[in-house]
Amino acid sequence: SKYIYPFGGSAPKPTVDPSKQIVGGKGLGLQVMSKIGVDVPPGFTLTTTLCPIYAKENDLPAEVWKGVRDNVRRIEVDMEKEFGSMSMPGMMDTVLNIGLNDVTVDGLAKATGNERFAWDSYRRLLDMYGEVVLGIPHEDFEKRFDKVKEAAGAANDVDLGVEELKTLCNEYKQVYVEQGKEFPMDPYKQLYACVKAVFGSWMTPRAVKYREINNIKNLIGTATNIQTMVFGNMGDDSGTGVAFSRNPSTGENVMYGEYLINAQGEDVVAGIRTPQPISQMKEVLPAAYAKFLENVEKLEVYFKDMQDVEFTVEKGKLWMLQCRNGKRTGVAAIKIAIDLVNEGKCTQSEALLKVEPRHVEQLLHPTFSADALKSDAYTKGIVAKGLPGSPGAAVGKLVFTPKQAEEEKANGASVILVRETTSPEDVGGMWAAAGILTARGGMTSHAAVVARGWGKPCVCGCSDIVVSEENQTVLVKDTNEVFKAGDVISINGATGEVIRNVIPVETPGLKGGLETLLGWADQEEGVMKVLANADSGPDATQAAENGAMGIGLCRTEHMFFNPERLPIVRRWIFHTECLDDLDHIKHFQRSDFKDLFVAMNGKHVTIRLLDPPLHEFLPRPEQVHEKVAEELGFGKDVPRMLARIESMHEENPMLGLRGCRLGIVKPEFTQMQVEAIMSAAADFMEECPDTAKVHPRIMIPLIGSIKEYKNQALLIKQEAERIKAERKLDIPYEIGTMIEVPRAALVSDKIASLVDDEDGKPLCSFFSYGTNDLTQMTMGISRDDSNGFIPKYLEMGIFEDDPFQTIDEEGVGYMVNHSANLGKRINPNISLSVCGEHGGDPKSIEFFDSLGLNYVSCSPYRVPVARLAAGQIRV
Ligand code: PEP
Ligand code: MG
Repeated sequence: SKYIYPFGGSAPKPTVDPSKQIVGGKGLGLQVMSKIGVDVPPGFTLTTTLCPIYAKENDLPAEVWKGVRDNVRRIEVDMEKEFGSMSMPGMMDTVLNIGLNDVTVDGLAKATGNERFAWDSYRRLLDMYGEVVLGIPHEDFEKRFDKVKEAAGAANDVDLGVEELKTLCNEYKQVYVEQGKEFPMDPYKQLYACVKAVFGSWMTPRAVKYREINNIKNLIGTATNIQTMVFGNMGDDSGTGVAFSRNPSTGENVMYGEYLINAQGEDVVAGIRTPQPISQMKEVLPAAYAKFLENVEKLEVYFKDMQDVEFTVEKGKLWMLQCRNGKRTGVAAIKIAIDLVNEGKCTQSEALLKVEPRHVEQLLHPTFSADALKSDAYTKGIVAKGLPGSPGAAVGKLVFTPKQAEEEKANGASVILVRETTSPEDVGGMWAAAGILTARGGMTSHAAVVARGWGKPCVCGCSDIVVSEENQTVLVKDTNEVFKAGDVISINGATGEVIRNVIPVETPGLKGGLETLLGWADQEEGVMKVLANADSGPDATQAAENGAMGIGLCRTEHMFFNPERLPIVRRWIFHTECLDDLDHIKHFQRSDFKDLFVAMNGKHVTIRLLDPPLHEFLPRPEQVHEKVAEELGFGKDVPRMLARIESMHEENPMLGLRGCRLGIVKPEFTQMQVEAIMSAAADFMEECPDTAKVHPRIMIPLIGSIKEYKNQALLIKQEAERIKAERKLDIPYEIGTMIEVPRAALVSDKIASLVDDEDGKPLCSFFSYGTNDLTQMTMGISRDDSNGFIPKYLEMGIFEDDPFQTIDEEGVGYMVNHSANLGKRINPNISLSVCGEHGGDPKSIEFFDSLGLNYVSCSPYRVPVARLAAGQIRV
């Protein structure tokens, strides 16, 4: 049947691996392991395509149920066992030991000669079936478990004997009675109900939330795996574990994981018992361990990637239960990608695809600085130590519930979520938190795995503390120190330390491995270039360090916002006739521009003429008093100054006197800026005649009509030529425009066709798409006021992405495409780029690449992410 994919035992080996979309991640791993000769307990996968059928019909097609029975029979033959117990771990929910009942539990006891094991398996089934299939709260079982343990004076579950386990099963059955629910004794009824429960679990709120947070879209549903049980709880020659083929925090090439002797899988993952490090398994189960290493190596070679595996040893024999490419931190992702290339396991291009944009972002995110780590605040502030669940530094207010975390985050607070342990229900709050701290659970506990996937700092298994959600307190056992909700603490996910104080953090930036990897990205054939939006020398230097190939946008107005300069700019705005102030502005602009040329030596430096409405620079009325009025040339006449400010007010400044309109109304400002740019270039060339290279590009903002463009372009040209002649230097400058008003996109051919009537030469050599304004004006959504409804739109699915982050391909993207085509039709060599926020967004970058644009320009700290994204598209 197209709905069923058998694996293991006598199952046919697939020649082509099935699609992960159809059999799910776990199903694919099982198919591959079965194919390459790694022992997996035989079973079969029901495809994801059944998920929507189940959602609609509340049942599965008859042919599927028949297929289930046929496959169970095949497995019975393969294993020479009768269907008594099976596992059925799905993506969302897992039920182990299906098929046990009051009768088969005795059969299992006899067949295995291990009565305790049989009853232990049965009580687990009663618990999991109740919870997963019938929705009985796990705590109801947990309470009975504690009661029986207490009565028996047992500290651990392994300390319970046969009789106590039998009592426990009876107690569990009581839970069903209390809840008015029934546990079916017929194994097939159990199986069918479990299959339905797994398909049904796809739409549970926690699964929906998980997909939402991780931006998982366009999946059909979950697959369901039905698999023979192998038992890790059959005595001291049995066990179970989870491991990564390399360290998922650091990337170091050593097996990393944990195992438990005489236990079933959920004991490890749930963090109930504290497992042993995997390396110790070599001593206790040497043969199984050797086989395990061999299997993991085979899988790494096949998948060309670090593996996350689960296994069980049953009476000395190793079975692999699951494999997948492991989740990892940013640091680990980069190290692993490079190591795999060096080990010959994958190519450079393949390695690029193993690093995600968020991994690169993580490296640009905070850790505690070396100095901070040595400070007294840190060393004397350590109150407890847990396991280093996920590296990174977090500082924030303590919260005790996921709900509080979400609320506090919404209010702009940074919070540390502290829990006894976390479960999938907590993911919303975990996402909202800056860091996560748990009292229980190992390195593969839920909290650690989830946090590592997100690159969020996590300290787990911190047994030095007692967490009380009820009292909203954390008690430090040794010292009796108590922390309350709202207290600020710091956590160090790399060491597991919990610190009482606020510790300063820093960001590592590009070092070693990342630079190598991004170098590979830059080498991909035909890769789109990445430039930076930078407005000052230091910004430009940072951009160059991050690998920017130039400056795609310098917003000159950013040079004005400095306490010494602002009064001069303001004076000029109030008294434009005063040329001294304009001269003064020219003076500091010239020196700033030179810094940019020096930092970029020879690379394009694109400088945009003044763009924002002038009143943005003015003081707010409440800041105006006599001293200010005097300083700005109004004597002490405050009312007159206020009247001037009032007269410049605009109802709709984004559509008011800004962009090229300013330069047209006040041509002297355009002239001044061009003179500053060209003089700065000349200064640098004269200062370093042998080494200096300059390439200024002068960019006109907010063009809508061709006459606007021509007006400014001719002015620029005249001024630039004047400086060139004066300084007797051939400065290779270019003139171009932002395309950010929809009308400019529609008439782009006309802009590209413009020539200087005197010499017949083209006037426009580049377009840079200002997708921030283009989005604002194409969609009619204010950049500054969109927060009132965009979150709601995203939630309701009216927008798939925030259009100010990810380009709206259909509308705004159409404008870009249309304009680019018109521009290229007139001038095949026209340079086309994007300098809006979208230039740093991987999804948008892919779209711009598909349009054949030459480069994107984004903020300096997005440059590494953009380089990776641009390279990956070309792999
Ligand atoms: C834009 O509009 O996309 C742009 C880059 O300019 P600004 O954000 O400065 O308006
Ligand atoms: Mg703009």
